[in-house]
Amino acid sequence: MALIKKALFFAVAAVFLYTTIIPNHLLAEVSATIHKGDPSFPDTYEQSRDRFRTYDTVLSKRWSEVSETSIPVSEAENLSIDLLKAEANASKDTLIVLSSGTHGIEGYTGSAMQDLFMKDFAGKLNPDTTGVYLIHSINPWGMKNNRRYNENNVDLNRNFISDWSTFDLNVNKTYKQLENFFEPEKKIGSIVKHDAEFTASLAKTALTVGTDQVESALLTGQYTNPKGVYYGGSRDEKSTVLMKREFNSILETDYKQIIHIDLHTGYGPRYQMSIFSSSAETLTQEEAEAAYSYPLVFTPDSEEYYASTGDLTEYFTALAKEKAPEKTFYSTTFEFGTLGDGTVDSIQSLKRTIEENQLYHYGASSSLSRLIIEGRYKELFYPHENKWRSKATADFSQALTGVLTYKKAL
Ligand SMILES: [Zn+2]
Repeated sequence: MALIKKALFFAVAAVFLYTTIIPNHLLAEVSATIHKGDPSFPDTYEQSRDRFRTYDTVLSKRWSEVSETSIPVSEAENLSIDLLKAEANASKDTLIVLSSGTHGIEGYTGSAMQDLFMKDFAGKLNPDTTGVYLIHSINPWGMKNNRRYNENNVDLNRNFISDWSTFDLNVNKTYKQLENFFEPEKKIGSIVKHDAEFTASLAKTALTVGTDQVESALLTGQYTNPKGVYYGGSRDEKSTVLMKREFNSILETDYKQIIHIDLHTGYGPRYQMSIFSSSAETLTQEEAEAAYSYPLVFTPDSEEYYASTGDLTEYFTALAKEKAPEKTFYSTTFEFGTLGDGTVDSIQSLKRTIEENQLYHYGASSSLSRLIIEGRYKELFYPHENKWRSKATADFSQALTGVLTYKKAL
């Protein structure tokens, strides 16, 4: 056993030497270069929002009742959640809801997919029977500041709790146990020293509890450490209040069918977007992949499936069941994998998540360290590679076509 542990430690250390420290200098160069590829992928929050605000004129050509609403989240910083609605002209059969930026920084890819929806799908829908509802940047502060979390360090996709008064904030005990690993309380120094320290800390933690435990302690969300990662908050955040209100009003409409897709990046294989179902999905993985004519659907029976608390699609699904059981309802996540799903990729995701949070709360004494850590984090949620972006676009088209066709909305 001791030998295996020793071997594991050296394997982890070796992997980090080759995957983390060596490419740092390459990454710094990459960050400094401006990449011009598909213009659908925006560079800034403002650019993305300005474009979104032009879509109403496009939809007005086919839908007679179109409205664009901007809900301020912070007046001081000019941040808002933007809503675009087009009501079915004759019979309210289906409403398609497409939301982006629940995890701020993931909103750039989400925005690109909403743009694609406008270019390739809006013209194919039947405006007499189908309504469209696009939601831009549920977490605008996070999008603007390139963070997954919002202005209060809250992960909004862990914040959709039905009733906080009965919710157990101590639900994630493993996170609390590993808090020293997840939250190093110090300023980041030189990048080489920082990377070496992480490797040592990970090896120590992995030997104590195992990497699977570390990953699950993180993904499910935690409610005890406000400066920690994947913190779900202790009450409804402002964006959550607004979205809960919108979800309620959607369920009060006459639409017989509601199809909602929340757009995310990060989890899963790098070049294959996954449809990540809510726990209400009754199809098995194999059945869902056949139904949606799509090669990767995670369903509750999938090995890789995980449930997190306070998830937006789970909340919306439960609310629909309670408030509008007569409607046909489907809410899911489209998840664009970024680094990949191998062990090394998962460790990299974990590392980038932890170090960016450390940087945010405690800063860095070296500007190169800051640049590298911010660059790595951006790549974790918004890869610059053209090949990644064009595959993401193709996958979105294929998956959306599959889902809408199966639901008879296309
Ligand atoms: Zn996400």
